[in-house]
Amino acid sequence: MEKILNYINGEFKAPIQNNWLENYNPSIGEVYGQIPNSTSEDIQLAYEAAKLAFPSWSQTTLQQRSEILSNIATGIIDNLDELAKAESIDNGKPLTLAKSVDIPRASSNFQFFAQAITQFSSEAHESIGLNAINFTLRQPIGVVGCISPWNLPLYLFTWKIAPALAAGNTVVAKPSEITPMTAYLLSKICQKAGLPKGILNIVHGLGHSTGQAIVEHPRIKAISFTGGTSTGAKIASTAAPMFKKLSLELGGKNPNLIFADCDYEKMLDTTIRSSFANQGQICLCGSRIFVEKPIYDKFKKDLIQRTKKLKIGPPLETSTQIGALVSKAHLEKVKSYIDMAEEEEGGKILYGGDYVTVKSHEKGYYLQPTIIETNDTTCRLMQEEIFGPVVTLTAFDTDDEAMAMANDVPYGLSCTIWTNNLNRSMHFAKNIESGIVWINTWMMRDLRTPFGGIKNSGVGREGGFEALRFFTEPKNVCIQY
Ligand code: NAD
Repeated sequence: MEKILNYINGEFKAPIQNNWLENYNPSIGEVYGQIPNSTSEDIQLAYEAAKLAFPSWSQTTLQQRSEILSNIATGIIDNLDELAKAESIDNGKPLTLAKSVDIPRASSNFQFFAQAITQFSSEAHESIGLNAINFTLRQPIGVVGCISPWNLPLYLFTWKIAPALAAGNTVVAKPSEITPMTAYLLSKICQKAGLPKGILNIVHGLGHSTGQAIVEHPRIKAISFTGGTSTGAKIASTAAPMFKKLSLELGGKNPNLIFADCDYEKMLDTTIRSSFANQGQICLCGSRIFVEKPIYDKFKKDLIQRTKKLKIGPPLETSTQIGALVSKAHLEKVKSYIDMAEEEEGGKILYGGDYVTVKSHEKGYYLQPTIIETNDTTCRLMQEEIFGPVVTLTAFDTDDEAMAMANDVPYGLSCTIWTNNLNRSMHFAKNIESGIVWINTWMMRDLRTPFGGIKNSGVGREGGFEALRFFTEPKNVCIQY
């Protein structure tokens, strides 16, 4: 049984109350370790360490800071195999995915912000005719909180921590209690990479207690959160009266709009991924597929055929394309949407819908990738985030109809459009209600770009200088001469 420990002030510590939670391996449905069930006392300890470390960290030269972050990036890549295996066991995702996407990206996050901070600049405004000059200092905030979800565990955890540290803050961070392992391994890498003690503190535990204690802490002045929309609302209501800076990256229900003039084979290959990668548990997955009528029947047949071929199996086997869902509770939630599809929602299951029993992993949380045909854009399947290997399929006639259906959701994270018509591309790019638009591609990321959603998908943007701006306070200095 692997016992994960908190990482506070550069040391590994058991939780003060000595309470522990069980950590499951979803591919076999069994407990394989324990994690701290931390309380506000542990958060206070982490806060004090971070507070003590702040003055010196905020004054390290950019070169020193950059070198340490770069060492962490290298440490992650040096431990690629161990981290990828740990991520796959903890989350249920295919090892091949963890090895090719999750862990390399976690390293890139540190490498990117190690460089970005050396290029970050602030503004100056000359007040012409008044003999005055204004310049803006961008100073680190102090101790900040970073809270992340289970779907891309190390990838999203580091996406917050790296810019927070690069900007000169010290951090109290909490990974998801469902997938804590790679955050624990990261703390060991940080220790080896020469990150001085107290700068990054990783505290494990439940959302409503450990996470809530971070958000409630009166001296933790900014919270960067990625997770569900209802959790985001709770965090906002706790933090607002204390006027904390908030970055909220929340749920999605993204449209995938397919027009008859698209590059069909590229679209089909990518749509398989945008529907079912990571068992559909990516906030950017295109879970609502809309297809122009002339190619609807062909696409439907091809999508079903290609989905049937996806290999569901043990995450650690290299041939596996669809692994286990992250937890039993999540499996049951996703299945409950499938179960309501035909009887209550007027949908038709074209493929999938059943649990899968994987040999020698009989208690694991496996589900068939599922395609549901429906024309009712107001039904729960089309309105609520399912966050599993489930897509809806709907035909449309006109561009206006496609636009209306795409925008008819409370979410606005991302959108994918498949067309070779430039005017249509621009029209959709401008009018679609989402923070991210992909045209003829999906999940292609350039870390300099603003990342985030509108509507119920969140507030604020991560990525590039947006993240460094979030993790700094601008202070204007006006000098008259
Ligand atoms: P979640 O909201 O249940 O939990 C996310 C994190 O918040 C966890 O660490 C959890 O312990 C913590 N938490 C829960 N309650 C809290 C509270 N009251 N105070 C402070 N922290 C609290 O989300 P999840 O189930 O882990 O992740 C899935 C969700 O994340 C989906 O909705 C998905 O769309 C979203 N997501 C969004 C993005 C994005 O970039 N927009 C990326 C990935 C995932």
